[in-house]
Amino acid sequence: MSQSYYRPTFIQVDLQAIKSNIKHLKEKLQKHTSIMAIVKANAYGHGAIEVANAALQAGATLLAVASPEESVQLRDAGVTADILVLGASPISFLPIASERNITLTAYSYEWLFATRHFTKSFKTHIKIDSGMGRIGFVQQEELQKALVFVRDRKWINVTGVFTHFSTADEEDATHFKKQIAAFEQMLDLFEQRPAIVHTSNSAATLRNPSQDWDAVRFGISMYGIAPSPWIDENLPFPLERALSLHTEVVHVKRVKKGTSIGYGASYTASSDEWIATLPIGYADGLLRKLHNQSVLIKGKRMPIVGKICMDQCMIRLDEQVDIGEKVVLLGKQMNEEIRIEEWANALQTIPYEICCTFSNRLPRLYS
Ligand code: PLP
Repeated sequence: MSQSYYRPTFIQVDLQAIKSNIKHLKEKLQKHTSIMAIVKANAYGHGAIEVANAALQAGATLLAVASPEESVQLRDAGVTADILVLGASPISFLPIASERNITLTAYSYEWLFATRHFTKSFKTHIKIDSGMGRIGFVQQEELQKALVFVRDRKWINVTGVFTHFSTADEEDATHFKKQIAAFEQMLDLFEQRPAIVHTSNSAATLRNPSQDWDAVRFGISMYGIAPSPWIDENLPFPLERALSLHTEVVHVKRVKKGTSIGYGASYTASSDEWIATLPIGYADGLLRKLHNQSVLIKGKRMPIVGKICMDQCMIRLDEQVDIGEKVVLLGKQMNEEIRIEEWANALQTIPYEICCTFSNRLPRLYS
């Protein structure tokens, strides 16, 4: 196979870790509960097609994405499993969804009513807004009207109903329980329950894997990342991390005390120092606010110095290293590890956002 990348900077995705997380979850779920693998946003930056195939091989039976485009990408790649589009799809996508067996989210009466001129069969899951405040039915009357609408149109195949929790990752379950109660009230309005009732994201699934619904939506934790520190401390099984970020040293120099490094000359060597240049920068997702982070070389932490450039950054070494020395920015090297949570803390964000911020310029390599 010809090499399609030359810069030694890449994301390594361990598909075995993803498979193992799914297998472990499957053991904890009730027999009738299916796993819906959430592969939106390019599978949280891990690569939608590769992750979808790995997840299906490991025992997930359903897939979900955020947008019509993401569902078509999977179909074009030959993925045949059921795919649910979780977000709002425009009605113009309905003929394609119908033809390509893509399930759309019905999130309001207005949306359903707008389908009225399309009389070919299509699949839909009804979304209940039980307290997230995003998309979905809130009022019982609106849902009742929608249920009458679909009852009179046999070509609308309601195969599922679902909701999404906004606080399932928090120890305090007050709002979480309110959402469950609100969802169950809405569910009572269905004369016949759709085949797939699903409520739980990773957090809700991990805090109660033996729940009774028909499917769980496994997102961030399929990638081996806990949805929050609290869930991390209360995991029903250990999660295996799938993503690591790598590069190599491309340049090493000995600089004199007083030498400044990088844009703005913001770092000045306080003694004679070894400085290495790495071919990774903020255009890859190594954001400028990560300037206080370290990288791993020979299993030791070396600090980033100066401002992170668009395509490169500089680090301070404790000794001279060879050109081509392996560098880990996220992941393990020997006995040391840099976790995505460290970056999340530095950036005052959550690991989800970091995964999604890695640019397309970074090749994803699979093992
Ligand atoms: N379900 C819906 C509707 C979502 O929007 C998301 C993620 O944002 C998920 C499930 C997966 O959540 P998580 O990644 O926390 O498992």
